[in-house]
Amino acid sequence: MITGQKGNRMLSERKAELVKQIKRAHTIGISGHTNPDGDCIGSCLGLYTYLKEMYPEKQIDLYLEPIPDKFSFLKYAEDICQEKTLDGAYDLYFSLDCSEPDRLDRFRSFFEEAEYQICIDHHFTNTGFGDLRFIFPEASSTCEVLCDLLDMDRVSMDCARDLYMGIVHDTGVFKHTNTTRKTMETAGILLEKGIHSEEIIDRTFFRKTYVQNQILGRALMQSILLLDGKVIFSVISKKDIEFYGIESADLDGIIDQLRVTEGVECALLLHEKEEGVYKVSMRANDLVDVSEIAGMFGGGGHIKAAGCTVHGESRDIVMNITHMVEQQLIKIKEEAQESVYDKRNS
Ligand code: 5GP
Ligand code: MN
Repeated sequence: MITGQKGNRMLSERKAELVKQIKRAHTIGISGHTNPDGDCIGSCLGLYTYLKEMYPEKQIDLYLEPIPDKFSFLKYAEDICQEKTLDGAYDLYFSLDCSEPDRLDRFRSFFEEAEYQICIDHHFTNTGFGDLRFIFPEASSTCEVLCDLLDMDRVSMDCARDLYMGIVHDTGVFKHTNTTRKTMETAGILLEKGIHSEEIIDRTFFRKTYVQNQILGRALMQSILLLDGKVIFSVISKKDIEFYGIESADLDGIIDQLRVTEGVECALLLHEKEEGVYKVSMRANDLVDVSEIAGMFGGGGHIKAAGCTVHGESRDIVMNITHMVEQQLIKIKEEAQESVYDKRNS
């Protein structure tokens, strides 16, 4: 991952520090980001399982917002808590899959008051926080980063299932451009632990409840094309959410379906959390950098998948983002023309 001698040495030193800190700690806390997704849940449960199996004598606690039912078959899913179980501060605390401390939301103070903090992530927008950091933007997922840090010989089948699941989710089942040879090789090592990949993929990625399919259908039917079909958006209102009796996680997959619409460069899904407050999910195809746009609204993510929370009218939000997409596309076109001109004249 990190190339060059210096980088390697630094990484091996940091890995040694990681092991030292784990051995030193009597109490260890783990958290991931708000609205936990597959990679967040997989990395948190994977690390929790690994540490529990390796160090049964330590107090290890996992704090995450409630996870969707489809993940409840994973080992130790029932151990996830929301209320602090320890009096005082943790000796060691892990932040997983979070690009900034704010993403830990209600668990941020658990992390910040800990004696030693470790940040493990793969967002290139990561702000760089914690006493020890393993931030690898070239990794497909936080689960892939973890596979580089853990002793893979000591990863059990239960831990492997979590890590494989996280990789599957952040790569869209090994489909997104973040899938590298290393991702595949890592997944191969996890497969050899005896996990059932088809069960993990179907149960957690593809399977939909009836109502999830209904809201997907509705979002697609009500989607609108803008900018000559280069932008597509759909809005799920608070009323829709209440009507169908669903939550955020039930909207998984809608944005991916919008993105694969022919001709689209950028897909947007607005989900009204409270009146006038929208969670915006953005996905890009070849040209657009959605992390830049999300960043303008105080959010973040990756070049091709990013998000933010925006206050205002859905129409204004869509128009503002569409304008930014248009500006990016104009700039790309101009740069392409300049490079043709330079080539002709060289
Ligand atoms: P999603 O659209 O699936 O919620 O998120 C796509 C990507 O953007 C994920 O990597 C997620 O962590 C990141 N992301 C989503 N919302 C936010 C946000 O409000 N702030 C930041 N920093 N990242 C976000
Ligand atoms: Mn991730």
